[in-house]
Amino acid sequence: LVAVASLAACGGSSGRGESSASSEKGFAADAAIGVSLPWLGTQNWKEAETMFEDQLSEAGFKPLIQAADNKVPQQQQQIEAMIEQGAKVIVVGPIDGTQLGSVLGKAKEAGVAVIGYDRLIENTDGIDAVVQFGSIKTGELQGQALLDGLAEKKGSGPYNIELFGGGPADPNAPNFFKGAMTVLQPKIDDGTLTVVSGQTDFTQAATPDWDNSKAQQRMDSLLSGNYSDKKIDGVLSPNDGIARAIITACEQAGQDIPVVSGLDAENESVTWIWEGKQWSTIAKPTDALVAKSVELIKVLQTGEELPAADDKADNGVIDVPLYELDPVVVTKANEKEVFADDAERMALLK
Ligand code: BGC
Repeated sequence: LVAVASLAACGGSSGRGESSASSEKGFAADAAIGVSLPWLGTQNWKEAETMFEDQLSEAGFKPLIQAADNKVPQQQQQIEAMIEQGAKVIVVGPIDGTQLGSVLGKAKEAGVAVIGYDRLIENTDGIDAVVQFGSIKTGELQGQALLDGLAEKKGSGPYNIELFGGGPADPNAPNFFKGAMTVLQPKIDDGTLTVVSGQTDFTQAATPDWDNSKAQQRMDSLLSGNYSDKKIDGVLSPNDGIARAIITACEQAGQDIPVVSGLDAENESVTWIWEGKQWSTIAKPTDALVAKSVELIKVLQTGEELPAADDKADNGVIDVPLYELDPVVVTKANEKEVFADDAERMALLK
């Protein structure tokens, strides 16, 4: 019966704009809009908090913004409160992609539209759209940046490397890793790259809760267990905080700094790249992703159908329309070009 019910849900709500009552009828131009963020532990989420406040207010809406400190029950309660406070749309960056089915079911019943922000929401039909930077693409760029950096900084190879992934509950993290491995695996197979620890599965490489200190501990033990008589040339890192933790562990172990990838263009990493300490990051500008979300909210407000999506993702129950922006690789060579219109980051490049 459960399977039949979810199949029916799958068939019944696959069309854009059909899955929530509010997206058919529209709502008041000054309605409350909820924004539920997973935590404020990396710069992109702190920026999202401020930028949603500014951009939603500017569009005439009443922002209800909460961040959940990486605790799933707290996020569920915050979303529930937003439904009770009459939010017409709730934008959600989930902590755990699979743990919001029940509360988003309530949102759907109440006619509230739900937009996944930056991360996919899984196993529920209570989601209307996701806005994000392509997560597989992001991983491919990270893998390619690592390879390019090795060739430029560490001679002709072969190279000793290690692999890190993000928080396993975040649906982006396995995708980032998968994208990177499409680039790196052939080079592992042909002997160009050696993962000295042998830890090449996502489950071995993952960093619980995206916690930088856990990544640093893992790097410490990888180095002491495998590199007492070897040099490490490169490390795949899923974001900037973890990249800096890896670099710090290498410095403390007396290693030359390896080529390390990143993500988010956090201020501190923008500086480290400029100084030659971190090899690369990926720019995924928060203001553009927030603007994309607000654009969709305005369409829902008028009651019209959402525009054609760029892609779709099977979330286990429905095909979710994906609205995607392009991530951009940043190294010292193109930093000034990429951040030309970003006064905050440009100021760091001195
Ligand atoms: C985001 C990254 C962020 C990470 C940890 C991911 O889902 O895409 O930008 O660094 O979460 O907060």
